[in-house]
Amino acid sequence: MSADRIAWLRLSSVYLPLANPISDAKVLTGRQKPMTEIAMLFVELQTADGHTGLGLSYSKRAGGPGQFAHAKEIAPTLLGEDPNDIARLWNTLCWAGASVGRSGLATQAIGAFDVALYDLKARRAGLPLAKLLGAWRDSVACYNTSGGFLHTPLDQLLVNAQASVERGIGGIKLKVGQPDRALDLQRVAAVRRQLGDGVALMVDANQQWDRPTAQRMCRAFEDLGLVWIEEPLDAYDHEGHAALAAAFDTPIATGEMLTSAAEHGDLIRHRAADWLMPDAPRVGGITPFLKIAAMAEQAGVMLACTCTWPRPTPPSPGWSTSTGWSRCSTNGWRSPMAA
Ligand SMILES: [Mg+2]
Repeated sequence: MSADRIAWLRLSSVYLPLANPISDAKVLTGRQKPMTEIAMLFVELQTADGHTGLGLSYSKRAGGPGQFAHAKEIAPTLLGEDPNDIARLWNTLCWAGASVGRSGLATQAIGAFDVALYDLKARRAGLPLAKLLGAWRDSVACYNTSGGFLHTPLDQLLVNAQASVERGIGGIKLKVGQPDRALDLQRVAAVRRQLGDGVALMVDANQQWDRPTAQRMCRAFEDLGLVWIEEPLDAYDHEGHAALAAAFDTPIATGEMLTSAAEHGDLIRHRAADWLMPDAPRVGGITPFLKIAAMAEQAGVMLACTCTWPRPTPPSPGWSTSTGWSRCSTNGWRSPMAA
């Protein structure tokens, strides 16, 4: 039994400004403003023996102050605890804030502590997180989502896609879902023409189609050989996603916006995703991410990590049995984290 105990915690709320505001389909349909900054919640831990861990969570557009406030309230419950007992400590943090529920902002605040505890354990062991958890592979295919946003004109989109492929990144993800569907089709077809059939392409509608539109667009994209069509419908429309997954050969990817393991369990039970896309900080950290990955494997659903940084270390892509793709960023908001 370990005698070491958590002796010190520091929380930080940091705002990361974006050099270029980002727009996906939610901006073009008028539901959101362009994203100009990211709110980051950092948790630093230190034990009595001097071992340290760093974790993070984040929010876009709103929620940063709320995550920080919730984290401040629940943080003291960790003092004096054994940092090895991560599963138990996740529950301790959850019960400390049980009044505000087990999803959303509450679990996202817990996620920063959970990642910090795993970071501490991995650093103390001298291992990357994937090795600590039990790695299946030493590398994973990455796709680039930075150059394909909807604020990028088509000529620049083609330049970005070509540059990304020349850097050796294996896939390109393009944003779609804008009100003019013909423009979506034109942009994706132009990229496919330029890159040829050998480059993996994905599209992401960011929840902006209704069911009839999603049916038409999935049919229109069917012959382009896409790796997946991401969030064609509202993130909580499990029946709608299941109908698309059953009707079309192109795989359906969703789950990025869900905020707990229980919500991902609902998605899996509905057979609503061919690719499941859990975001580790958004679901509450690595502890719930591992539960989601296990459920996905049991159900035969593929896994694509949507939130990865070099360090701190939300689930390392090499860990999962079924991870096929991991998102990377060449000029987006994660780039400063890689510096
Ligand atoms: Mg997405």
